[in-house]
Amino acid sequence: MRRFLCGVPGDSCTGTLLTVNKDGQRMHATPQEAFACFKMYLIRRGYKQVGAREFAAPESGQITLLTRPSKFGTPLRLGKQGEAGTGIDGKRWTYLRKGGAGCIAEVAS
Ligand SMILES: [Zn+2]
Repeated sequence: MRRFLCGVPGDSCTGTLLTVNKDGQRMHATPQEAFACFKMYLIRRGYKQVGAREFAAPESGQITLLTRPSKFGTPLRLGKQGEAGTGIDGKRWTYLRKGGAGCIAEVAS
Protein backbone atom coordinates (compact mmCIF):
# COMPACT_ATOMS: atom_id res chain seq x y z
CA MET A 1 0.00 0.00 0.00
CA ARG A 2 1.24 3.47 -0.87
CA ARG A 3 0.34 7.04 -0.06
CA PHE A 4 1.73 10.22 -1.54
CA LEU A 5 2.65 13.58 -0.04
CA CYS A 6 1.82 16.48 -2.35
CA GLY A 7 4.08 19.13 -0.78
CA VAL A 8 1.19 21.55 -0.20
CA PRO A 9 1.50 23.05 3.30
CA GLY A 10 -0.87 22.10 6.12
CA ASP A 11 -4.48 23.07 5.77
CA SER A 12 -4.21 23.97 2.09
CA CYS A 13 -3.93 20.28 1.24
CA THR A 14 -7.14 18.40 0.44
CA GLY A 15 -5.68 15.03 1.40
CA THR A 16 -6.46 12.74 4.34
CA LEU A 17 -4.75 13.40 7.67
CA LEU A 18 -2.54 10.45 8.60
CA THR A 19 0.52 9.91 10.76
CA VAL A 20 3.90 10.09 9.03
CA ASN A 21 6.60 9.03 11.45
CA LYS A 22 5.46 11.10 14.45
CA ASP A 23 3.77 13.97 12.68
CA GLY A 24 0.27 14.31 11.36
CA GLN A 25 0.41 15.06 7.64
CA ARG A 26 -2.08 15.07 4.84
CA MET A 27 -1.54 12.64 2.02
CA HIS A 28 -3.13 11.25 -1.12
CA ALA A 29 -3.99 7.79 -2.39
CA THR A 30 -2.48 8.30 -5.84
CA PRO A 31 0.25 10.52 -7.35
CA GLN A 32 -2.40 11.95 -9.69
CA GLU A 33 -4.41 13.11 -6.68
CA ALA A 34 -1.30 14.70 -5.16
CA PHE A 35 -0.66 16.45 -8.49
CA ALA A 36 -4.23 17.80 -8.61
CA CYS A 37 -3.90 19.06 -5.03
CA PHE A 38 -0.68 20.92 -5.81
CA LYS A 39 -2.16 22.33 -9.00
CA MET A 40 -5.19 23.72 -7.14
CA TYR A 41 -2.85 25.17 -4.53
CA LEU A 42 -0.89 27.06 -7.21
CA ILE A 43 -4.08 28.34 -8.84
CA ARG A 44 -5.40 29.55 -5.47
CA ARG A 45 -2.15 31.48 -5.05
CA GLY A 46 -2.74 33.26 -8.36
CA TYR A 47 -0.66 31.10 -10.67
CA LYS A 48 -1.88 30.72 -14.25
CA GLN A 49 -1.80 27.35 -15.92
CA VAL A 50 0.08 27.77 -19.20
CA GLY A 51 0.72 24.14 -20.12
CA ALA A 52 -0.25 20.62 -19.07
CA ARG A 53 2.03 20.94 -16.06
CA GLU A 54 3.45 24.45 -16.39
CA PHE A 55 2.32 27.33 -14.21
CA ALA A 56 3.27 31.02 -14.39
CA ALA A 57 3.83 32.91 -11.12
CA PRO A 58 1.43 35.85 -10.58
CA GLU A 59 3.98 38.69 -10.75
CA SER A 60 7.31 37.45 -12.02
CA GLY A 61 5.74 35.17 -14.61
CA GLN A 62 8.35 32.60 -13.68
CA ILE A 63 7.33 29.16 -14.84
CA THR A 64 6.99 26.31 -12.38
CA LEU A 65 7.16 22.96 -14.10
CA LEU A 66 5.56 20.17 -12.10
CA THR A 67 6.72 16.58 -12.17
CA ARG A 68 4.52 14.32 -14.32
CA PRO A 69 1.26 13.33 -12.55
CA SER A 70 2.25 9.65 -12.57
CA LYS A 71 5.52 10.46 -10.75
CA PHE A 72 4.31 13.30 -8.56
CA GLY A 73 4.68 13.50 -4.80
CA THR A 74 6.72 11.80 -2.13
CA PRO A 75 5.81 8.10 -1.80
CA LEU A 76 5.09 6.64 1.63
CA ARG A 77 4.73 3.10 2.85
CA LEU A 78 3.04 1.65 5.91
CA GLY A 79 5.22 1.45 9.03
CA LYS A 80 6.11 -1.86 10.60
CA GLN A 81 3.27 -3.96 11.90
CA GLY A 82 2.02 -2.90 15.30
CA GLU A 83 3.17 0.67 15.00
CA ALA A 84 0.16 2.76 15.82
CA GLY A 85 -0.40 6.26 14.54
CA THR A 86 -2.78 8.97 15.61
CA GLY A 87 -4.18 9.72 12.15
CA ILE A 88 -7.71 8.74 11.21
CA ASP A 89 -6.62 5.32 9.97
CA GLY A 90 -4.77 4.57 13.25
CA LYS A 91 -1.69 3.55 11.30
CA ARG A 92 1.80 4.89 11.06
CA TRP A 93 3.36 5.70 7.71
CA THR A 94 6.95 6.32 6.78
CA TYR A 95 8.93 7.50 3.74
CA LEU A 96 9.45 4.88 1.08
CA ARG A 97 12.97 6.16 0.53
CA LYS A 98 15.12 8.73 2.23
CA GLY A 99 14.72 12.19 0.83
CA GLY A 100 11.72 11.22 -1.29
CA ALA A 101 11.04 12.54 -4.74
CA GLY A 102 11.09 16.23 -5.52
CA CYS A 103 7.59 17.43 -6.29
CA ILE A 104 8.40 20.31 -8.55
CA ALA A 105 11.16 21.67 -10.72
CA GLU A 106 11.30 25.38 -11.46
CA VAL A 107 12.58 26.83 -14.70
CA ALA A 108 12.96 30.46 -15.68
CA SER A 109 10.48 31.80 -18.19
ZN1 LIG B 1 -2.44 17.50 -0.96
